[in-house]
Amino acid sequence: MSKQFDLVVIGAGPGGYIAAIRAAQLGMSVACIDAWQNGQGGPAPGGTCTNVGCIPSKALLQSSEHYEQANHHFAEHGIEVKGVSLKLDTLIGRKNSVVKQNNDGILYLFKKNKVTFFHGKGSFVGQTEGGWSIKVTGTAEEDLVAKHVVIATGSSARELPGLPFDEKQVLSNDGALSIGAVPKKLGVIGAGVIGLEMGSVWRRLGAEVTVLESMPEFLAAADQQVAKEALKAFTKQGLDIQLGVKIGEIKATAKQVTVPYTDAAGAEQKLVVDKLIVSIGRVPYTGGLNADAVGLKLDERGFIVVDDDCKTSLANVWAVGDVVRGPMLAHKAEEEGVAVAERIAGQHGHVNFATVPWVIYTSPEIAWVGQTEQQLKKDGREYKAGSFPFLANGRARALGDTTGFVKILADAKTDEVLGVHIVGPMASELISEAVTIMEFRGAAEDIARICHAHPTLSEAVKEAALAVDKRALNF
Ligand code: FAD
Repeated sequence: MSKQFDLVVIGAGPGGYIAAIRAAQLGMSVACIDAWQNGQGGPAPGGTCTNVGCIPSKALLQSSEHYEQANHHFAEHGIEVKGVSLKLDTLIGRKNSVVKQNNDGILYLFKKNKVTFFHGKGSFVGQTEGGWSIKVTGTAEEDLVAKHVVIATGSSARELPGLPFDEKQVLSNDGALSIGAVPKKLGVIGAGVIGLEMGSVWRRLGAEVTVLESMPEFLAAADQQVAKEALKAFTKQGLDIQLGVKIGEIKATAKQVTVPYTDAAGAEQKLVVDKLIVSIGRVPYTGGLNADAVGLKLDERGFIVVDDDCKTSLANVWAVGDVVRGPMLAHKAEEEGVAVAERIAGQHGHVNFATVPWVIYTSPEIAWVGQTEQQLKKDGREYKAGSFPFLANGRARALGDTTGFVKILADAKTDEVLGVHIVGPMASELISEAVTIMEFRGAAEDIARICHAHPTLSEAVKEAALAVDKRALNF
């Protein structure tokens, strides 16, 4: 006998579990199916983000930053620490327990909101009178019928052709988060968000890290002034970042990985490393959904085709998060999850793609929202720019972390904020103010006239806004 639900969500990553909770809040009967298994074969809801993405990477970034501070920066504060040593098992164990707390938190939230959770793989069987027939296989074996279905099956790491991940020598994000001993030499292919974050973690823990990037520009999607400042800081820290390279045929043995490449100057080079992280992007994941059989339309790159409202080609079937177009970010997936649940309930859920913030959690952190200076120039839009360096911010000096700046771009006539770009301490937190202002279509003058607590890093945002009108007070 099939179990009947108003909504069945397939996938409990940030897109899926949030959609399930919001739908339950709106009074629907909801089931959520997720296949992820923890080390003991039990359920581990939270998807890529919780298990091998946002959360574990930030746990490792935090631990490795403490290690770096103890080794290199405590002395500036007059704190002498002798014999700093690293217990990698404990560090990885802590990361695993942070992940587990998040898995357990989601199971608790499902209970609290009366979302029925099934641990297993969900696949389409077909349509029945009551709606879509969905089969669960795995730990749970169930037949479900749903009036609406949300697909939130996420993405997986892209492999280099002919070089499958073995998670021992050739690592995806999964293996990169669980290396058993600090490698002496680590190679990273791809200087994107994941490559830079993982490269930073292992460099801080003692690896000699080389990052190879095929694009000639560093962080091409970021404001180029910010990218330049970040590249300078990373290079100073010891990350060897090589741009504009052409990778040859990679050879991996049980002990080492050899990466032949042509550098930007056209010279043949060879990188020999103990381990290689391949972070060249992610591909949408629809395996096991039985999508073909029910005629679910995918595009040529494998993304589920959706309209602006996240409706798929099938009636009452929606898709959100990494498996559809748009930035592969957890908060974008969450916003889509909420919007879809509200649309199913007859409300008018909305996601504003123009104000989705981007963050790279390196040190310095990089965060931005809206348009870059190069985009505005390309569009021929007239704009004003104001910047403020953290070097002139009292709190940053007290923290001993003065790298970087805040830059605000505003329309030349209306003063509306068009983009905010931050490289420096706590950029990930500071960007929220910019997102809020832009969501309200506020002006640089609005930020400039808001009282900001002193001494805070957020004063650098206010000062950058003042600088748009050439009246910064502290620089
Ligand atoms: P996912 O999180 O991938 O979840 C999909 C879930 O569906 C998985 O649990 C999967 O097992 C399950 N599933 C798939 N098929 C089925 C099926 N047929 N039946 C049942 N279950 C199924 N984003 C940020 O915003 N900030 C960050 O700091 C950040 N850091 C990252 C760091 C790394 C190393 C990586 C790899 C990614 C990071 N991301 C970050 C990206 C973020 O993880 C993704 O954008 C986000 O997880 C997408 O959410 P989702 O719900 O679409 O899919």
